[in-house]
Amino acid sequence: MEMNRRYFLKLSGAIAAPLLIKGNTSALASEPPRISAEAVGCLVDTTECVGCRKCEQACNERHGLDKPRESFEEMTVLENERRPDETSYTVVNKYYPKNIGSLTWRNRPSFVKFQCMHCNDPSCVSACIVGALTKQPDGPVIYDAAKCIGCRYCMIACPFQIPAYEYGKPLTPQVRKCTFCFEYIKDGGLPACAQVCPREVMTFGRHSDLLKLARRKMKDNPGKYVDHIYGEYEVGGTSWLYLSSEPFESIGFPKLGTKVPPRLTEAIQHGLFQYFAAPIGLFAILGGMMWFSNFYKKNPENNTSEKGDKT
Ligand code: SF4
Ligand code: SF4
Ligand code: SF4
Repeated sequence: MEMNRRYFLKLSGAIAAPLLIKGNTSALASEPPRISAEAVGCLVDTTECVGCRKCEQACNERHGLDKPRESFEEMTVLENERRPDETSYTVVNKYYPKNIGSLTWRNRPSFVKFQCMHCNDPSCVSACIVGALTKQPDGPVIYDAAKCIGCRYCMIACPFQIPAYEYGKPLTPQVRKCTFCFEYIKDGGLPACAQVCPREVMTFGRHSDLLKLARRKMKDNPGKYVDHIYGEYEVGGTSWLYLSSEPFESIGFPKLGTKVPPRLTEAIQHGLFQYFAAPIGLFAILGGMMWFSNFYKKNPENNTSEKGDKT
């Protein structure tokens, strides 16, 4: 087929239009992850925690993480608020009561174990453009290092500031966070932290049963807990749930709405991704047009459209 400028312009229009339309619809969001009715979770009763750090140690050992500078027997570390990082998938913090009130437990510090909340509709999953983070139907949010490109959008997206990056390993850095010990629980095992806790602060089980248990504890112990199960509704719900005798914002939990943030981050990320694809197509088309233009300038005898082609 003879290629002329009009044919090329028609062809380029046909290619460009879907690219531009695709760019304009980039904010379309995908379906939220499907979660099984049997999905598991963990209920953390912070009123039972004594801050012994055995959970931190068990997690560190199970996952072969670097040993901390101070031993797990060192209790002074509790005096400074810490965040989970690439060598500590979970940390325990100590919060002094700010608001002595009628609740019976408010005359002592609260100890709170933090880790990834394994959100029902996780921002980290939504922000990851290569699918390196996925929400499993049975609860855990897991990471595939082989897919990760190190963009760290997950770190920006997480409302709990959980994913950590191995900046100290420039050749093989990975994103690190609590795995929910999914390699063990899928075979009927327990998360190491829940297994070791001498106070049975964490109850592992079916998420729907944990919500019932939390409500029963609140009903059976009037005055012991604030009337709030953290994670029941926050950011669309989380696999890890918490009970407390203190308002959650005074024991390190961010005050978050019930709306799922992923749809927004997803729109941004996928928008960027699609707009990235569109310019590549357009640049290819524009490059081709420039090539044709130069070609016809040098070879005007081939330009049939300028010789009366009206089609
Ligand atoms: S092992 Fe249990 S009691 Fe000890 S710090 Fe962890 S959650 Fe608290
Ligand atoms: S807490 Fe953060 S890292 Fe964990 S699942 Fe939710 S968004 Fe992802
Ligand atoms: S569930 Fe597993 S990975 Fe997560 S904090 Fe507990 S022991 Fe660590």
